[in-house]
Amino acid sequence: MGKALIIGAGGVGSVVAHKCVQNSDVFEEIMIASRTKAKCDALKEKLDGGKTIIHTAQVDADNVDELVELINSFKPDVVINVALPYQDLTIMEACLATGVHYLDTANYEPPETAKFEYKWQWAYKEKFEKAGITAVLGCGFDPGVTGVFTAYALKHHFDEIHYIDILDCNAGDHGLPFATNFNPEINIREITSNGRYWKEGKWIETKPLEYKREYNFPEVGPKDIYLLYHEELESLAKNVKGLKQIRFWMTFSEKYLTHLRVLQNVGMTSIEPIEFEGKKIVPLQFLKAVLPDPGSLGPRTKGKTNIGCIFRGIKDGKEKTYYLYNVCDHEECYREVGSQAVSYTTGVPAMIGASLIIKGIWRRPGVWNVEEFDPDPFMEELNKWGLPWKESFDPELLDLDLENSEVK
Ligand code: NDP
Repeated sequence: MGKALIIGAGGVGSVVAHKCVQNSDVFEEIMIASRTKAKCDALKEKLDGGKTIIHTAQVDADNVDELVELINSFKPDVVINVALPYQDLTIMEACLATGVHYLDTANYEPPETAKFEYKWQWAYKEKFEKAGITAVLGCGFDPGVTGVFTAYALKHHFDEIHYIDILDCNAGDHGLPFATNFNPEINIREITSNGRYWKEGKWIETKPLEYKREYNFPEVGPKDIYLLYHEELESLAKNVKGLKQIRFWMTFSEKYLTHLRVLQNVGMTSIEPIEFEGKKIVPLQFLKAVLPDPGSLGPRTKGKTNIGCIFRGIKDGKEKTYYLYNVCDHEECYREVGSQAVSYTTGVPAMIGASLIIKGIWRRPGVWNVEEFDPDPFMEELNKWGLPWKESFDPELLDLDLENSEVK
């Protein structure tokens, strides 16, 4: 049916490639292209032998001309960007120049400042409209499935959603003292930044990890969760009409946070370049180089993830609560595709989004976040491709009024 160019061959790229090959009716041909070609070749070697034809290439995704040349030589229907957020704009530029649809899993980040904002990518809306091509932004799990869950809840369960709490629980244990589950640089930037949530039309800023609660996750059990800012809050606050509040919570263990505090106190998480032996280095990038590669955690990680959204709102004049979530098992993911659940829960939705673009189901000129499309076909595919969802109408609830609560 179609061809996809996958850019990035890290943890997520590997899952996307595995899943495209499993879905060979849609992905007849794929090209895996990345900075280090050896990683693409290793993937090809592992995956060859099925119906999907696999190509590999070396590309510097910071360079628009190189990207344009590669896209013109392969002529894909869609580019799946699972490199790093720094490459989003160059890849979007290359898609515009070649008239090819675009999908990613994380918003553009300027290398020098942690922002987590969509404005640079939303600015491309008119250009994509004029070119008649579709860009789907943030199509991993969170952002991604969390937006699809929201669109689904709104379509089938609510007349108006007033409150959303997104809960991201990773109860996996890799047995190492400290490691991040995906790109350490992006992960640490996210956690060490101030938190923020949206209430009654305003952003309320919090100190990093200021609010802590315990939540009893289905199939996982009680875990500490912390309020932080996450990029889908920006698009959901804009796209869900009548919304009063949206927050994002993530689990962290005490051990993880203690390591992080020490690293932060000694300056290792800074993104300000420093002079070291006559060379400029960014401490956080150096830290990334000495931490375990997230890809190496797969074989050692045990336990589950549980990511979902609790919605509160009105249906037929009555108050209603609805919780949609997915539980994923690290070891099962590893057995299936050789990666742990954090990469798996990101890569599967990226493959599904790209398949819906190829099939013409999620195709609309412009730049869109996932909640702006029909959620039903995506929800069906989640069940089919390894991320089945569950629902509850009586979940444990979090206090809605943080500012006036006694516990921080
Ligand atoms: P990794 O660091 O494991 O992989 C990134 C890949 O991109 C590597 O193969 C790397 O190449 C390649 N790359 C980096 N820079 C360039 C460049 N200039 N040109 C070409 N290739 C490049 O990251 P992950 O796989 O963990 O994450 C991928 C993306 O997924 C990130 O944007 C991350 O933020 C996002 N993500 C989204 C989630 C969601 O739920 N929405 C959750 C988790 C991640 P090399 O091997 O040479 O370093």
